[in-house]
Amino acid sequence: RLVEFAETVKGVKKDKASDKLVWREGDFASRISHALVNGITDFIEEDTEEARQALGRPLHVIEGPLMDGMKVVGQLFGDGKMFLPQVVKSARVMKRAVAYLTPFMEEEKGEGDVSTAGTFLIATVKGDVHDIGKNIVGVVLACNNYKVIDLGVMVDCDSILDAAEEHGADLIGMSGLITPSLDEMSHNALEMQKRGMTTPLLVGGATTSRAHTAIKIAPAYEGAVVHITDASLVVEACGELLSADRKAAYIEKNRVAQQDERERFEARSENQKSLAFDEAAAKAPSLDWDHLSENPAPTGVKVWDSIPLEKLVEYIDWSPFFWTWELKGTYPRILEHKERGAQAKELFADAQTLLTDIVQNNRFTARAVTGLWSASRDGHDVRLFESEQSEDEVAVFHFLRQQIDRGTSKPQQSLADFIAPPEAGRDCLGAFAVTMGPEVEAFANTFREQGDDYSAIMVQALGDRLAEALAEYMHKLVRDEWGYGKSEAIEASGRVDDAYLEFLLKEKYRGIRPAIGYPACPDHTEKATLWKLLDVEKNIGATLTSSFAMHPASSVSGLYFGHPAARYFNVGKIGEDQLLNYSSRKRLLEEDAKKWLRPNL
Ligand code: SAH
Repeated sequence: RLVEFAETVKGVKKDKASDKLVWREGDFASRISHALVNGITDFIEEDTEEARQALGRPLHVIEGPLMDGMKVVGQLFGDGKMFLPQVVKSARVMKRAVAYLTPFMEEEKGEGDVSTAGTFLIATVKGDVHDIGKNIVGVVLACNNYKVIDLGVMVDCDSILDAAEEHGADLIGMSGLITPSLDEMSHNALEMQKRGMTTPLLVGGATTSRAHTAIKIAPAYEGAVVHITDASLVVEACGELLSADRKAAYIEKNRVAQQDERERFEARSENQKSLAFDEAAAKAPSLDWDHLSENPAPTGVKVWDSIPLEKLVEYIDWSPFFWTWELKGTYPRILEHKERGAQAKELFADAQTLLTDIVQNNRFTARAVTGLWSASRDGHDVRLFESEQSEDEVAVFHFLRQQIDRGTSKPQQSLADFIAPPEAGRDCLGAFAVTMGPEVEAFANTFREQGDDYSAIMVQALGDRLAEALAEYMHKLVRDEWGYGKSEAIEASGRVDDAYLEFLLKEKYRGIRPAIGYPACPDHTEKATLWKLLDVEKNIGATLTSSFAMHPASSVSGLYFGHPAARYFNVGKIGEDQLLNYSSRKRLLEEDAKKWLRPNL
């Protein structure tokens, strides 16, 4: 019946004008269901009121037509017939209806609680701030009748576990974006073990993986540890974990898969040939330094605090926006996709409406800080100086080199290779940090408080897009400052045309801007040096967390390399020998270096 009903709804949906008339003629149950499936909030309060009067109690409305409607949504989503943005819109309708019923429920207090599928406690772990994915998972679970307790971001282990015990959580979800969060999650799993907990642990977020979950987290905890790759899979996992009949088989299947994963990892590691650190260093690429004479004079720190949002819109890379909403594909082709096109278009239109509001009302504050320094390579370190003549260093960045053998024809790379050694003459290295400000979170919260998670998530996603666009825009300005950027074609009008945008987004220009913590320079702690060098906190208000995540979340930072041969690469696995060398260069205790480089060991 559910599927049949959904098909009918889909059929009607084709013609919006007639749609409106037809669906309003059904009974309240079918109207509520239609509103939920299609994310229409316009009539939900009047329909809910009608249902309340007919069914006698607010609870009956929730457990009856509202829950039935959400079941249709859940089923369509599970079957791949409905996409994430539509589900989040449905949640908005559900929340509106529940908000309408709440005062009536309070009036009859003590008459019993709404039964739920279970209590799900979710948090972004300590030191990490990103929460779009976590918020999406929360909404999807709430749609499926879970009671979701969201502790927010940067939540330390004890707070998560105490809250789980206090609320009697049936499931715990931990989310993370940056690599240090992996360590934090392993630590949390171990604490769960120490407390003798048995609650299943669900792990998700950009930095997590099936392999890491199997190798590093699951062994720390005897309870079930399940990796969730995307929001569309979380409901099924929770359902299995809480089903009296299927739970044991599901956990066993997960355990066996993780054992396989660990064995595959070991086999892979054994097959990988690694070089000793000095052997790897001897295989550094040999680059020429012809461009040094064209390098600009150091600029010192420059603060840019009145960047018009309108300018940044031209630089937006829209594809990752669709990925945030779990719609695969690339912009603009995704808009014409056979299955996802209609949803992508609707989402994009909603994004444009909100973006226009953001730009016209200056809702975010784009701030940037950049600088170019005189630079010189010293082994795997790069020393920075105020001027070409100066010998007083203002900062030192430490880099790592690939040790996994790349064969005879390919060099073993390090970012240090792209900076000239002293005998070749002084080189130039740049640094930047940009942010869209705390205004992003604040604006998102104005929607969240109204039960509108759809717009809240949209605001966060646009904040991220604008921050990346700002990073791209600043890179362009700095390439111009450096000199070589001036030969890049940009329309005479000064606007970014399609061809130039493609050139930018494919990063076909000379030079790179590696982000610290990413594969070419995986040690997040180097961000502390960047923060000090640019006085980022004072200049643009962005800070670093205990795991060196940037706060506010819609911030980007990195280094500028101008060598024509500079490319991104992956440092990958390094050996104990390099770890020792690195910790002595950085004057770190070996165990601290180990902690921060764990993903590369
Ligand atoms: N247009 C994209 C830009 C972000 S992804 C967007 O709007 O989302 C690309 C960026 O990630 C690069 O500019 C660089 O800052 C970083 N990056 C990619 N690969 C990297 C690597 N191997 N090492 C360090 N940083 C990397």
